[in-house]
Amino acid sequence: MRKPLVMGNWKLNGSIDMAKNLVEGLRKELSTEAACDIAIAPPVVYLDFVKHQLGGSNIILGAQDVDVNLSGAYTGEVSATMLKEVGVTHVIIGHSERRTYHKESDEFIAKKFGILKESGLVPVLCIGETEAENEAGQTQSVCARQIDAVINALGVEAFNGAVIAYEPVWAIGTGKSATPAQAQAVHKFIRDHIAKQDAKVAEQVIIQYGGSVNDKNAAELFTQPDIDGALVGGASLKVDAFTAIVRAA
Ligand code: PGA
Repeated sequence: MRKPLVMGNWKLNGSIDMAKNLVEGLRKELSTEAACDIAIAPPVVYLDFVKHQLGGSNIILGAQDVDVNLSGAYTGEVSATMLKEVGVTHVIIGHSERRTYHKESDEFIAKKFGILKESGLVPVLCIGETEAENEAGQTQSVCARQIDAVINALGVEAFNGAVIAYEPVWAIGTGKSATPAQAQAVHKFIRDHIAKQDAKVAEQVIIQYGGSVNDKNAAELFTQPDIDGALVGGASLKVDAFTAIVRAA
């Protein structure tokens, strides 16, 4: 049985005060055992602070990105070993905002996937089609291409213990979530696509849905058999909304 993962992606939001209040609130509300794993990914500059705020809580610390190199002359970058040293275990890679604003390619993202695996960290690989691709009927081919870049570089076994977040770009931050049936169809396609290479790897891989998940639509999304939790942006910045999503999983 797969344990769902509900992960909050704070993106470029927050402050020390906000991080303190949010973590305090989550610790209070989520002190009892949840049916899913819970993670938060604050901006990199707050990771160490948030780790201390989390104390002995079972909330997992995540990061929003990583460099492809472990050290060297790469100004502005942060390595997998650095993230690990401050207590990060899960790292989001390939988010559509990085693919778009930083021109990250499928191959470059596959390299990040590899460095995370080598470093003993869990990759949370974001994939998903744009609105134009969706309208052109290319949802499956885009998702397959983004998954295949990792399979070609590292082999399908790389998905053992990894997380995929299916995030249709048209649903991110728009308030227009995919319907549970729409999302389930793509999640099933992704799992079947991996199963063509290795059924066992496909069966265990966590496939989160992301894109305008909130306290109202989460429960119905989570009833779908191939939806294993959510990657949550906007709603992860509010204790009440994020807590409700966790409880729905
Ligand atoms: P959203 O963002 O929940 O604000 O739509 C999701 C994401 O980009 O991970």
